[in-house]
Amino acid sequence: MRLLDGRSMAADIGRSVVDDVERLAATGVTPTLAVVLPTADEAARSYVRVIERGAAKVGVACAVHELTGDPDELTATVDRLAADPAVHGMIVQTPLPDGLTAADVGARIPVGKDVDGMNPLSLGRLALGLPAFAPATAAAVLEILNRAAVPLAGARACVIGRSSVVGKPAALLLLAEDATVTVCHSRTKDLATVAHDADIVVAAVGRPKMVGAGHVRPGAVVIDVGTNWTDAGLVGDVDADAVAPVAGALTPVPGGVGPVTTMLLLRNTVRAAGG
Ligand code: NAP
Repeated sequence: MRLLDGRSMAADIGRSVVDDVERLAATGVTPTLAVVLPTADEAARSYVRVIERGAAKVGVACAVHELTGDPDELTATVDRLAADPAVHGMIVQTPLPDGLTAADVGARIPVGKDVDGMNPLSLGRLALGLPAFAPATAAAVLEILNRAAVPLAGARACVIGRSSVVGKPAALLLLAEDATVTVCHSRTKDLATVAHDADIVVAAVGRPKMVGAGHVRPGAVVIDVGTNWTDAGLVGDVDADAVAPVAGALTPVPGGVGPVTTMLLLRNTVRAAGG
């Protein structure tokens, strides 16, 4: 079984991001990412610290806006950042204040600054095959598969999970690469049999170790998007110990999709700045 090391992939992407940042610096531009934290949420804060550390490493400026949970303050902040020419990329963390959906807030982010694909227009453009930033986690799934040279055209891919931030965009990106995609969810009947048919399994469920050996065809490539905090620490949606002897390749948790996601967010910011 091949372990698909997201940390080394992220480091590799980071080196090319640094080159792009240096090229932009020569034209007087510092790529700038605005991160909005709508509420005082510790999990969101800790992810923001990861983004800040990554940004510092590659030379992207990262401005964090921590708010009080007031919906009007959030929309006013998003509108101000949207209009600010010094801000190239924007993301808004969840949880959101009551009464606002991700689509409501995302719709206020200009598509050109929408580096985590939160605007419904970005997902629509993705569905139509038009240029748009995909949600970074979904893009990370494809980046890992491409870097691992996994053949996608004609491959059977099973995406478990249909959220707008991971499952759906990952399925669209796989489809754009000519994979034959099945999207599974909580109402899917006989999930193990459906997943077992696939050459590529993407687990984006949010249930610790739910995907076991019975879901994985021998030799299949398994991408574990799950990040679940348990008493045993951070675990994925895949039972790695059970799946490792069966799979052809597997992303670890931690150290798989997560680091690639963060780096793609920064790469998107550099691209939004013209890099
Ligand atoms: P989500 O919005 O809760 O969606 C979960 C999806 O899984 C839903 O489509 C749900 O189906 C499906 N599901 C739930 N139970 C199922 C079951 N028993 N069998 C089959 N499908 C089932 O979660 P998300 O935001 O997509 O996140 C998924 C996971 O990825 C979480 O662990 C999250 O922490 C992680 N994540 C990681 C990153 C990263 O950078 N590594 C980023 C984002 C998220 P229904 O639609 O029918 O409810």
